[in-house]
Amino acid sequence: MKARKKILITGGAGFLGSHLCDRFVNDGYHVIAMDNLITGRLENIEHLFPKESFEFYQHDVSKFIHVPGELDYILHFASPASPIDYLKIPIQTLKVGSLGIHNCLGLARNKNAKVLIASTSEVYGDPEVHPQKESYWGNVNPIGPRGVYDEAKRFQEAMTMAYHTYHGLEVRIARIFNTYGPRMRLNDGRVLPAFIGQALRGEDITVFGDGSQTRSFCYVDDLVEGIVRLLHSNYNQPVNLGNPDEISIQSFAEEIIQLTGTNQRVVYKDLPKNDPKQRQPDIELARKELEWQPEVTRAEGLKRTYSYFKKLSTAELYKKEHNNFEDYIK
Ligand code: UDP
Repeated sequence: MKARKKILITGGAGFLGSHLCDRFVNDGYHVIAMDNLITGRLENIEHLFPKESFEFYQHDVSKFIHVPGELDYILHFASPASPIDYLKIPIQTLKVGSLGIHNCLGLARNKNAKVLIASTSEVYGDPEVHPQKESYWGNVNPIGPRGVYDEAKRFQEAMTMAYHTYHGLEVRIARIFNTYGPRMRLNDGRVLPAFIGQALRGEDITVFGDGSQTRSFCYVDDLVEGIVRLLHSNYNQPVNLGNPDEISIQSFAEEIIQLTGTNQRVVYKDLPKNDPKQRQPDIELARKELEWQPEVTRAEGLKRTYSYFKKLSTAELYKKEHNNFEDYIK
């Protein structure tokens, strides 16, 4: 029998990483999830532990990494990914995007593995071009509050391309736009868990600014399908993955109120510094190269996501933090 293909997924206990672990285990791969559990959670992958084709390494990818034997693929998905997280752990955010990818690329060279990195729409910063195409270079403030994330991800792209051009390594770069679904952390500060959590606790819904800023939300299953197709494509330049269905944050708040049937009040708070005014992926390249486009409507995706959050216990709902920052930052 042919040996299973082996894949290392960094950030494997996180929101996107854990969904990728599920997908690759189901597709018959041997999956190694690596996570330092600073923002990732074992609950996301616990159900995979009994499987022989699944392993978990509790390890920080910013430090030297090793995987014994052959390795076919590396997906680098380890990183804090919400503005609140990277304000609290800015150095770790910078390290995982820079030292972390360097370790992954070194390991990939050593094993002759293909590497796919999770880049982000944040490389476009507060964009002056709309919608954002891959050819746009972005408008990023390197020393603003988002700089630690945006610049780490931009560096990560540069480093990955350098390994491709200089060492001939097979690389794939996914520029991921706002993605949502089950297993998001309730208190990570991102808009969807924030609004749903507020609705479930009977609190006011907090819209930042006047709510006219826009985002485009992609359901996690669509994103995972896009990642799989990109990994197996022959395309080594960045590709946008996201859902072009754009909505203002004000309208999004109204949708959540309707979805949860809670009739909560909307209150307005200061817009965080450097909060992008608009964001919408141009996905023509993904359509052409990967024959991919999102299939799950926001109405359907929100329904599935809400049913996940609704099942959380009261204790979980009122827990202040859903991370291990205190344990981690000594
Ligand atoms: N936002 C909001 N209320 C909240 C949390 C976020 O109005 O309680 C806004 C935030 O200012 C931003 C948008 O929702 O304009 C999306 O924020 P998120 O942190 O989810 O992602 P990002 O800004 O990185 O796209």
